[in-house]
Amino acid sequence: MSLPAPEPASLYAAREPIFPRRVKGSFRRLKWWIMAATLGIYYITPWLRWDRGPNLPDQAVLVDLANRRFFFFMIEIWPHEFYFVAGLLIMAGLGLFLFTSAAGRVWCGYACPQTVWTDLFILVERWVEGDRNARIRLHRQGWDGEKVRKRAVKWALWFLIGLATGGAWVFYFTDAPRLAVDLVTGNAHPIAYTTMLILTATTFVFGGFAREQICIYACPWPRIQAAMMDEDTITIGYRDWRGEPRGKQAVEGNGDCIDCMACVNVCPMGIDIRDGQQMACITCGLCIDACDDTMDKIGKPRGLVGYLALTDEVRERAGQPPKSVWAHVFRPRTVLYTVLWAGVGVALVVALFLRSPIDISVTPVRNPLYVTLSDGTIRNTYDVRLRNKSGADKWFWITLTAGSRYAVTLEGEDGAKVLVPANETYQQRVYVEALPGSEGATTERSEIRLWVANEDGTERVSKDVVFNGKAE
Ligand code: SF4
Ligand code: SF4
Repeated sequence: MSLPAPEPASLYAAREPIFPRRVKGSFRRLKWWIMAATLGIYYITPWLRWDRGPNLPDQAVLVDLANRRFFFFMIEIWPHEFYFVAGLLIMAGLGLFLFTSAAGRVWCGYACPQTVWTDLFILVERWVEGDRNARIRLHRQGWDGEKVRKRAVKWALWFLIGLATGGAWVFYFTDAPRLAVDLVTGNAHPIAYTTMLILTATTFVFGGFAREQICIYACPWPRIQAAMMDEDTITIGYRDWRGEPRGKQAVEGNGDCIDCMACVNVCPMGIDIRDGQQMACITCGLCIDACDDTMDKIGKPRGLVGYLALTDEVRERAGQPPKSVWAHVFRPRTVLYTVLWAGVGVALVVALFLRSPIDISVTPVRNPLYVTLSDGTIRNTYDVRLRNKSGADKWFWITLTAGSRYAVTLEGEDGAKVLVPANETYQQRVYVEALPGSEGATTERSEIRLWVANEDGTERVSKDVVFNGKAE
């Protein structure tokens, strides 16, 4: 008789809650500063004003979806200039590559929204429930009055932070002061409430409960970053050649690590840096602060846990000093990323300054390709979109390249000029005619250049289009 097959071991591991202990030190201070700066920028930016004149919004940073415009202080991006946004995204990507290649996951450890908001939520949690031991005790105790009260206060504060986060986000898309009033009085668009609700919920869940699981399981960056790092990348590590064997200092032969677990207890990811570099480590530096504090207490030099590169490890094991920080930072890979980053940046700045305040795009009307008038004249029709990017109404002149044997007329206009309102795109139907028997009229396809100029001729832009004639 055969025995029943054993149950396969479950591959699911339930999450162990993490209760990071409070820590003081230079990296913790740096993280507080970065948190204050990033949250400050995020929450305050929609309230900054910028005077652009009477016809334009005065919000300094505004994604104006209704008018399909993006405002960033003195810069105004129109829909056809989306390449500026694409360029900025490329720069952000290259910047991330550069920092990761030079100093590992500094983005994850200091500036990523998931890190910043989780840090803020832990701060609130510590303020309401106490430090690590008190939180562990509360977690283990039953749902008595104390636990219900503390959890209610904590969740209420988390909810308010989530609400402020979702609220700040929608303020980027319309006039913030007006929307704030509309939100409070119940007159805002349902999309604003829905967006706030979604962002409040995601902030609440990601910062309050999911925390390190977002970094470990949901974010692709930990997997990608390895491609940007090499043995010269500075990252956080444990100097085991100095710390091991760990244990009591009174025991002869033991290393500097007294196995106090301070580095583990402060870690927001719940890992032990002494196990070596791990995907879960976001290089936040808090274990460095914790261990330095322990080293100070036992009178040993700081740096048992610290920033170092793999090449330093080899040197230090051999009793040599580590390479200088600059030797790690300046290497071909980082120089290449810097050059690419700067190249895209310079190209964007040049493109920004070369922009004309007027612009056109032309769509030929192809049905029919051409019309033969009663006297034999061949007429082509074009829909021209004229963009007046200035703050005042402007007359636009539409002409063809000087000397060309074509005539231009505008639908609904007496002459070749049309008034385009300030900061608007105006569509004008344009007719181009070739006289009977002329080259344009008798050639199947001719290239012509349509020019648009402002009234005083200081700004001109052109577009090459095809004129369809009647081939003989
Ligand atoms: S191991 Fe250290 S650097 Fe890595 S996440 Fe934990 S505390 Fe931060
Ligand atoms: S904080 Fe330092 S001494 Fe304490 S366990 Fe961690 S590495 Fe060892």
